[in-house]
Amino acid sequence: MKAQPKASHFIAGDWVEDTAGAAFDSIHPATGEGIARLHEATPDIMSRALDAAQAAQPAWAALAPVERGRILHRAAMIMRARNHELSVLETLDTGKPLQETLVADAASGADAFEYFAGFAPTVTGQTIPLGRDMAYTLREALGVCVGIGAWNYPIQIASWKAAPALAFGNAVVFKPSEMTPLSALALAEILHEAGLPAGLFNVVQGRGAVGAGLVTDARVAKVSLTGSVPTGRKVYAAAAGGIRAVTMELGGKSPLIIFEDADVESAVSAAILANFYSSGQICSNGTRVFVHRDIKTAFLDRLAERTRQIRLGDPLDAKTQMGPLVSDQHMHKVLGHIADGIAAGARLVCGGARHGHVGCFVQPTVFADVRDDMALAREEIFGPVMSVLDFTDEDEVITRANATEYGLAAGVFTRDLARAHRVAGVLQAGTVWVNAYNLTPVEMPFGGVKASGVGRENGHAALEHYTRIKSVYLGLGDVDAPY
Ligand code: NAD
Repeated sequence: MKAQPKASHFIAGDWVEDTAGAAFDSIHPATGEGIARLHEATPDIMSRALDAAQAAQPAWAALAPVERGRILHRAAMIMRARNHELSVLETLDTGKPLQETLVADAASGADAFEYFAGFAPTVTGQTIPLGRDMAYTLREALGVCVGIGAWNYPIQIASWKAAPALAFGNAVVFKPSEMTPLSALALAEILHEAGLPAGLFNVVQGRGAVGAGLVTDARVAKVSLTGSVPTGRKVYAAAAGGIRAVTMELGGKSPLIIFEDADVESAVSAAILANFYSSGQICSNGTRVFVHRDIKTAFLDRLAERTRQIRLGDPLDAKTQMGPLVSDQHMHKVLGHIADGIAAGARLVCGGARHGHVGCFVQPTVFADVRDDMALAREEIFGPVMSVLDFTDEDEVITRANATEYGLAAGVFTRDLARAHRVAGVLQAGTVWVNAYNLTPVEMPFGGVKASGVGRENGHAALEHYTRIKSVYLGLGDVDAPY
């Protein structure tokens, strides 16, 4: 098996295997070939990881932040030096084209380690004058943080959780998606090579039940999940039992609104990126593309022309622009959504079928004349399926854009500055892009509102989610008692 790791788990600075756990394979979705065989964590493995994290965390939190930062910075440099190797691994595991993984996966993870390495030493508390007395606040680490990942951006997700958690003095037990178990192990190895003390970043493998076991363990202070809304509801509820802090990065059905004064070529570029990058498997994708009626024909013509030119194929080939979906099961789910869209009367502009007979490829698909009540416009498909809807009026499109349980992201294309800010202000979304789409620099907070999530990753906002505040009151005079 061409990507077989040394063992399934990484605990206390070492590779750990336990064949008592159920075996599962990682499959390269472009060919169906098994690339690694791993074992799910047993309760004993989970307990060993949590013990290791709990034992290592206090000494790590007691280090000067600049020392923690130095190690994380070194990890970022190793990730960049090994970017090609990590990108090939991610491409094998996810099927995403190398063209993407070379620039968007480990590279974005390295950004997170670099950013939080520099952020950690800047964290301070407050001093609060109280007349004769005073108080001050300390930012403390939470303790053991559990991270649970989705399969679309495996090393990025692991890094976006581990970087702030570790920078601020926590320990991490990370469970990658069972679909893409490999790159988190590579990250663990790199962190330890960079000097991270054993026990601070542990990886355990398994399906949902392993995640569920971690979430309710008494040793865990915080849970950060990246996954679907149904899983989010379960994990949030389970974490609530122990009053644990949570970050929930969940799904979306984001609107991308293109006004009549937009630069049509840029808007088409954005719509393509917002639906077909990573074969459409991106949480923040703008899958409801609202186009002003005046430019609808011009927009659709150009969109169809450019979509038909997208090169699908072997994701390891540098010329390939779009790879397969992550699994056979997911491909059939996406094809089912397409069939439902056709049956519901949406107009198929291009695509609409499986690509080839080997691997999990689906053609980039555009539907026009989609109505708000169609499943195409309501459900997260998580595949290369774009729904184009039309509108005439700003108030109307805002109401329709907000009429969803989701609230992860949104986009606005217009040359009218006042309109851009006005619309960005009222869209119910954690992130709004103006004349851009799906850019997620580490400096900018990212997360959802409504059912799309709780909390924020990245930016200064991450501090709130990986630390807690302790208030220290200093009595500087005699204590008076009334009795
Ligand atoms: P999923 O919800 O099926 O699984 C996510 C993770 O949760 C996996 O590791 C899975 O094993 C684990 N899990 C499943 N049941 C669990 C349980 N009961 N307790 C604990 N853990 C459990 O999601 P997926 O199919 O892997 O990923 C796609 C979804 O992720 C999409 O909905 C997408 O929008 C979302 N996503 C969100 C973001 C974001 O930042 N908002 C980013 C990427 C993906």
